[in-house]
Amino acid sequence: MAKETYKCYGCKQIFRKEELVEHASNRAKELHKYCPKCLKEKQDSEFFADKICEIFGIKAPGPLIYTQRKKIKQEYGYTDQTIIDCLEYIYNVECKKKLSESLYFVKPEYVEKMLKYKQNKETEEHQIVNAIGAFKTEEHIVPIKEIENTKTSVYDNIDEWLNDD
Ligand SMILES: [Zn+2]
Repeated sequence: MAKETYKCYGCKQIFRKEELVEHASNRAKELHKYCPKCLKEKQDSEFFADKICEIFGIKAPGPLIYTQRKKIKQEYGYTDQTIIDCLEYIYNVECKKKLSESLYFVKPEYVEKMLKYKQNKETEEHQIVNAIGAFKTEEHIVPIKEIENTKTSVYDNIDEWLNDD
């Protein structure tokens, strides 16, 4: 029986049918087959494009932004998530004036600031969660004991039934 093989839409290499995944991008509604590596790249770049559109209020990112993305990744090794986090920090937290469709601000000094900001925010949220947790524990001390008592009696019964063969 001949094995079914297909070309990956991304890298154009030949793969076995079961190695490829069909994927339609958000924009083009057409289905294409991708190998796992190309699928990951495709999904990453779609995530990136969606976020860029959201941040800059545009319909589709131009080619310049992809050139900048590539350069940033090569130069600093940042992931798409870091690039997006940095842009969101610059425009939503620092409220800098928007440079239309540019990754100009994505550089170490701002990425460091963004990471510090996120860390502080997480610590704060953690403290709030802990405070709520402490409050809840106090409230439920008695009911937990009651539940434990009920459990013991149920298990005792099961043992009796099992032995009662
Ligand atoms: Zn591929």
